[in-house]
Formats: sequence, structure tokens, C-alpha cells
Amino acid sequence: MTSSFDSLGLVEPLRRALNAEKYLKPTPIQVQAIPVLLEGNDLLGVAETGTGKTAAFSLPLLHRLSRQPGPRVPGAPRALILAPTRELARQIGERIDAYGRHLSLRGAVIFGGVGQGQQVKALRAGVDILVATPGRLLDLCGQRHVRLDKVSILVLDEADRMLDMGFIHDVRKIVGLCGKERQTLLFSATMPPPIAKLAHDILREPVRIDVSPVKVAVERIEQRVYFVGAKDKRTLLTELIKDPAMGRVLVFTRTKRGADRVCRFLVQAGIAADALHGNKAQNARVRALDGFRNGKVRALVATDIAARGIDVPGISHVINYELPNEPESYVHRIGRTARAGAGGAALSLCDNSERAYLTAIERLMRARVDVAEHRLAETLDEPVARAPARIAPARPADKRRRRQRSRRPARAATSNSFREILDHLEARQ
Ligand code: AMP
Repeated sequence: MTSSFDSLGLVEPLRRALNAEKYLKPTPIQVQAIPVLLEGNDLLGVAETGTGKTAAFSLPLLHRLSRQPGPRVPGAPRALILAPTRELARQIGERIDAYGRHLSLRGAVIFGGVGQGQQVKALRAGVDILVATPGRLLDLCGQRHVRLDKVSILVLDEADRMLDMGFIHDVRKIVGLCGKERQTLLFSATMPPPIAKLAHDILREPVRIDVSPVKVAVERIEQRVYFVGAKDKRTLLTELIKDPAMGRVLVFTRTKRGADRVCRFLVQAGIAADALHGNKAQNARVRALDGFRNGKVRALVATDIAARGIDVPGISHVINYELPNEPESYVHRIGRTARAGAGGAALSLCDNSERAYLTAIERLMRARVDVAEHRLAETLDEPVARAPARIAPARPADKRRRRQRSRRPARAATSNSFREILDHLEARQ
């Protein structure tokens, strides 16, 4: 495997920027994707956030645009990157600015939820690279502030999230507006049928790259569950977060109102906390994320959708204040910690009404979550023996049933790689 950026064939100003970023060697997706993208191939990338995929597509994009200097036409970008959320769009824009700092290419990021004035102004001034969320982009296309016929490189990032969020028709419309002679890249963590169909329709003989998220694996995350009464959750959460070992904590709730409530009582308990969810104004969301990144906010309370795709390094703990009712969300939530090789822990507060959610999660992961002892432990009507678990590896259903009946003694949980779990999720779709 190539071990340095120097051998990937990127122009010198990009290599200089990578040095400044202290990227010593390319990640697996970068090693695989950069050479084929530099040659102009289409790409289907099966990859999660955390694998280095942003640089994998941004570096060749910047390289190729810098090699084809053309007049900058106002409102007509040459490259378009579509992202499902404002936060992800902003993050991509920041990365592109950082990697392209020694090139004379111009980028802009456009998304909804804020006034369009500044965005229109940037478009008028002329941009080479546009990063956008689908809704606002279509809006501005409709108002003729932007046209896409000059787009020669199109990137769809987190395509499965765009599907989840109901953007698939908008995405298809946008693709239809782009230049026909173009290079197209599609990234998705999972490949549900509508995304597979989209990929089939818009990619030309794509190279397919499938990477396991770099060092992000469920087995690297220490997981524990606290059985606690619903009314005691606040006390327990506050006690847990007061532990100085909890450096940067991402707390999950199921609802936006829940996130606000939890944030309020944490602040009342003297913990620097903020909330992130879709009902917050854009500037409040930016403030919350920036505060979390720069350490002013120790605990960020978020809903699942708001936290998707967010890349904040150094999250020491993920706390599920409420367990998700979709077991897949649990895997996505806990994957926010233990990034880039760091350790991490995921703690779940489970009340009696959430037992079924926990069971579904454990079934999906094929691993039991260790139970943590604490003084607020919930007394159950029907105590459930929670010895350290043993979970059977995937096997035909009949064998599994037989094994469950045999009730063999428990042994330590086995672990599955994040990739295996994602494969499993994909197979269920
Ligand atoms: P991404 O998957 O694109 O969201 O990237 C995840 C994180 O890894 C980001 O914080 C990047 O800045 C960082 N990163 C990407 N490529 C490299 C690299 N080759 N070396 C070190 N860090 C990287």
C-alpha cells in the first residue's frame, strides 16, 4: 500500500497544504480513490464519515480544476458537492478551503435556514467549487442565481442520508441540471435499493471502493448500560458528567424537546452544555458546534438527525440519555466516539420502558452491553438476570433457536467490526 501522499501524483500546492494539516499518510480510501479520480473515473464509494473520504474526493477535485483553468463564470460553478445537512456542507467547505489554500480556486457553501443574500453575492462573484444542500440549491437554481451546466465534477456525499431525509427527488433533479460531460462520485455508508438505482443511473463505469471505517470499530468502544428509573435519569446523568474523565460528551435524546430539557438541567447543574437539533436557528447550531469543538461546551445534547455526519474529534463519551427506538441509530451514535484511533466509551441510561430497545440493539450487534452498577439502579418488577453475555455469531435461524433453548452458561461478549454491522444493516434493507 502507498504510504505517502507524494506518490499519489497530487500537485505541489496540495501536498504543501497536506503537510500543514499534518496528514502524514493517506488513509485507505485516499490511497484507493485518489489515483482513479485523478484519471477522471467515476466512483462509487462505500464509506462512512471518519474514513477520510472528504479529502479522498476533494484533493483530486482541486487537482483537476487547478489543471484546467477556465474563466470563472458568475453563478456557474465547475464542481458541485451535494451534502444532506448544513453542518456537513460547512465541514466540507472548510476542508476544501484548507486543502486548496495554495491554489487560486474559489469555493462557496450554500444551505437553507439562513438568508440567501450572502450566498447569492458569493455566487455572483464567481465560484469554482460549490458545496450545497439540495433544497437551497434548487431554490437558487429556480431563481437563476446559479446554473449547473458547467459542472464537470459532481460529488454526492452521504447519499443514503439524503434518501433518509427525503431529498432523493431533489438530488435527481439537480443531477439532471448538471453538465452531461462530467465526472460523478457517489458516497454512501449503506446501499439501499434506491441508492443502488441512483448510482446505476448516474455513474458511468464507476470504480467501486469499499472501505471499513478507519479504526472505527465497535470493539474499540467500551459500552455500558445503566438500568435506572426514568425519574432518576437526570441525577445519574449529572453525576456521570461531573466525572472529570468525561472530557467531551455527546448526549443523545430521541426528541428535540427532550434535547432542550436535558440541556437546561445540565446547565442548571453547572455543566457547560448546549443543544443541537433541527429546531434551532442556524446561528445557534453553529455556535453550539463551535463551542463543542473548541471546548467551551463540555456536553452537547443532540438528536440523531442533528448529529449525523458531524465530525468532532476527541469525543470521549457518548451518552444515550434515551435509547434510540431504531437499533441502527445506536451504532451510528456510538460511532461518534473512538474516532481516528482514539479510545471512547458509550454509556446508555435504560429505564424499564426502554428494555425492548436495548434487546433490539443487542440483537443487531450480536453482542450484549455490559451492565454498570450504580446506586440509583432501577428495581425491576421482574428481575432479569444480566450475567456477562454471550451472543451467538450469525447462524441460520433454526440453529439459533436451538441454541437459545439450550441456555448455555454465559461468557464474555463477542465483538463485531463496525463494517460487519453496516453490512448487516445493508442486508436488512
Ligand atoms: P472524513 O471522513 O473526511 O470526515 O475525515 C475524518 C477526519 O480525518 C477529518 O477530521 C480529517 O481532517 C481527518 N483526516 C482525513 N485524512 C487524513 C489523513 N490522511 N491523515 C490524518 N487525518 C486525516
